Amino acid sequence: MPGEFSLIDAIARRAAARADVVLGIGDDAALLAVPAGRQLVVAMDTLNAGVHFPDDTAPADIGWKALAVNLSDLAAMGAQPAWCTLSLSLPGPDAAWVDGFLGGFLSLAALHGVALVGGDTTRGPLSVCVTAHGLVEPGRARRRDGARVGDDVWVTGTPGDAGGALAQWRAGGTRDAALRARLDRPTPRIEAGLALAGVAHAAIDVSDGLLADLGHVCAASGVGAQIELETLPASPMLAAAFDPEQRRVLQCTGGDDYELCFTVAQERREDIAAVAEACGVAMTRIGHIVAGDDVVALDRDGRRWVPPRRGFEHFAD
Ligand code: ADP
Ligand code: MG
Repeated sequence: MPGEFSLIDAIARRAAARADVVLGIGDDAALLAVPAGRQLVVAMDTLNAGVHFPDDTAPADIGWKALAVNLSDLAAMGAQPAWCTLSLSLPGPDAAWVDGFLGGFLSLAALHGVALVGGDTTRGPLSVCVTAHGLVEPGRARRRDGARVGDDVWVTGTPGDAGGALAQWRAGGTRDAALRARLDRPTPRIEAGLALAGVAHAAIDVSDGLLADLGHVCAASGVGAQIELETLPASPMLAAAFDPEQRRVLQCTGGDDYELCFTVAQERREDIAAVAEACGVAMTRIGHIVAGDDVVALDRDGRRWVPPRRGFEHFAD
């Protein structure tokens, strides 16, 4: 049976280098060369077994997702990812599990040139905590508090897919593998997040549900929002698997999509089309920012639609 240190050795052997990592895994702390004239952007997210992923999730998918949810936060801020750390709590010293986990984690890290520079390995219920570190030019980070009345509200990709996969998993009937892939392997919208610098006024990544997350932007910005439900872009697989009302609930309140929701001045619609084209990511205008403090969803006839719940919240029940 491997111990803590042979697991750490296995991790250290596979972690890729980066020129600005002065000292990586192996000392008491990592030493990183932050480039002159850049601000450091730091995000942390935890995945707990049974809370953040279904029990049957493959180790490689858990690895991918643990990093993806953190890179997604950097994408929302408009940061360029650079480094990460990884705290692993494992029920036992399962080298095969760690190997699979690293496969997913490090393949996503390699896609974005992110170096794993340290972490912690402990015994306990399965839990994965990652911090991601990114870089941004001073003053250029995109915050939640920048939305302005009159801005359009946009979303990347097709929200609702991850929630659809979770609903199918819970129901135990038909399970669409393509939907499940959207739950297990979310795509952090890093390129889009960078390309929207200087264009989007505010952004958030959709982790708890579109209406709830847009609500956070509105609260931080002191504004309200109106969403036109008919404009919400649904993937063909979501549309095929759920009736229109279920789909609406999933698209508005389903978490785990890790798409970006952002606000942009109306005059810049063509710029967004160009960014979407350049990044190869669909961007859809779904509503606009209004005076007030409420996020209102309107149906085709202009009637207000209230979802059964706004989005995911820990400790809510
Ligand atoms: P310490 O007791 O001084 O905190 P550890 O034995 O916990 O040191 O860690 C030794 C080295 O291995 C450190 O550089 C630490 O960052 C790294 N490390 C430990 N666990 C992980 C992990 N899960 N992923 C990446 N690096 C890790
Ligand atoms: Mg130490």
